Amino acid sequence: MSTLAVVGAQWGDEGKGKVVDVLAAEADLVARFAGGNNAGHTLVVDGVKIVTHLVPSGCTYPGTRCLLGAGMVIDPEVFAEEIAQLRTHGLLAGDELRVSLDAHVIFEFHRELDALREDASTAQTIGTTRRGIGPAYEAKAARRGIRIRDLLRPDRLRERLEHNKRALEPEFARFGSERSVSVDALCEAAARWVEWIGPMTCDAGAEVLEFIGAGKSVLFEGAQGALLDVDHGTYPYVTSSSTIAGGVCTGLGIGPTLIDGVWGITKAYTTRVGAGPFPTKLDGERGDQIRAAGGEYGATTGRPRDCGWLDLPALRLAARRNGLTGLVVTKLDVLAQLPAIEICTRYQDDLDPGRDGFDDAVPVYEPVAGWGGPNWGEQVSNARSLEQLPAGVRAYLDLVSDYVEVPVTLVSVGPGREQTIRLTAAF
Ligand code: GDP
Repeated sequence: MSTLAVVGAQWGDEGKGKVVDVLAAEADLVARFAGGNNAGHTLVVDGVKIVTHLVPSGCTYPGTRCLLGAGMVIDPEVFAEEIAQLRTHGLLAGDELRVSLDAHVIFEFHRELDALREDASTAQTIGTTRRGIGPAYEAKAARRGIRIRDLLRPDRLRERLEHNKRALEPEFARFGSERSVSVDALCEAAARWVEWIGPMTCDAGAEVLEFIGAGKSVLFEGAQGALLDVDHGTYPYVTSSSTIAGGVCTGLGIGPTLIDGVWGITKAYTTRVGAGPFPTKLDGERGDQIRAAGGEYGATTGRPRDCGWLDLPALRLAARRNGLTGLVVTKLDVLAQLPAIEICTRYQDDLDPGRDGFDDAVPVYEPVAGWGGPNWGEQVSNARSLEQLPAGVRAYLDLVSDYVEVPVTLVSVGPGREQTIRLTAAF
């Protein structure tokens, strides 16, 4: 196997950053295919916490090529800051970064529109990160988006910006904002961005093919999770891009036959941030207990995440939508801290989450037998092989794997790189 896609199998925040960081040690190219700086990956390297939003999590390995794909939306201001921050940690010192010419650009008017909409008290606030991601994807679908390649051609850029100005100013006015789009100022900003982005630009698909052709290992890094996919998630409470493995092809410009394996990441429990269906959400003390144990606050926004037990029907749906060949279970150490746990094995009336009714699904829980013991949290954090896990924890992993019919390939028992149990080779 020389390529592997790693995707979130829940509603995001599954710990993709850490897992990709661990697997990237063996990769020559790490390519992100979707999303923007609404994602926040937390990496812990030698005890130092590094948060990335746009740059692929392979950035901690000097010399590993990091590619931002066409399916992404890129805010150059944020990108510049992130690169500068990573350089203070001694990372990205070479020419590791490449950016697809076809990735779309987030401008300040996208951020502004995002915020205006979130602040307006409409019935359907999605709970976005206000970073302009949605408006930039909307512009892309409306064929008025501005791509990285447009920044390289000042005349074309000016024309595209004028088009956006005509479309957006009436919309700002509808929200009572007197905001105008200053084409001149944006052209000037773009000229500054081009100085440093220009040399990084590439044809992303060609870049991936070149690595594969040379027999190198390629890791495709997802953002958010399967249930937030714009086509297959809990619409309309979803992100604006393709988060499932199919997004690798559209987001990078390669064919599906080039994906050798797909690993889906799930926490040992479930979390969700923002609005939308979440059948196994636990209100009150039990949800609070998981949130406290797992530190479940957004890496990008600091928002507290809703927490609940693992939802097997939803996970199985994610496994099918992604064609998972491997399952990665993270935060097992967090679940091990709890004295007793439950798991959702079906919904009432045997509701199929792929059919209509997921919004109203009522979970049916089963207690997990043999769970809980003194110092389990510590024991699990210190485990470096399956055998070192308590038998009850191993049985839990078997239960999950059997239900979703996907083998567990990696288990994460803490935020550190070394707190990882590898069961199957990635490449
Ligand atoms: P991502 O967007 O999927 O990368 O997820 P986040 O970075 O938002 O959330 C993952 C958080 O959990 C980060 O703070 C990680 O350092 C941490 N983390 C990842 N895996 C584990 C694990 O197995 N155990 C614990 N305790 N923390 C973990």
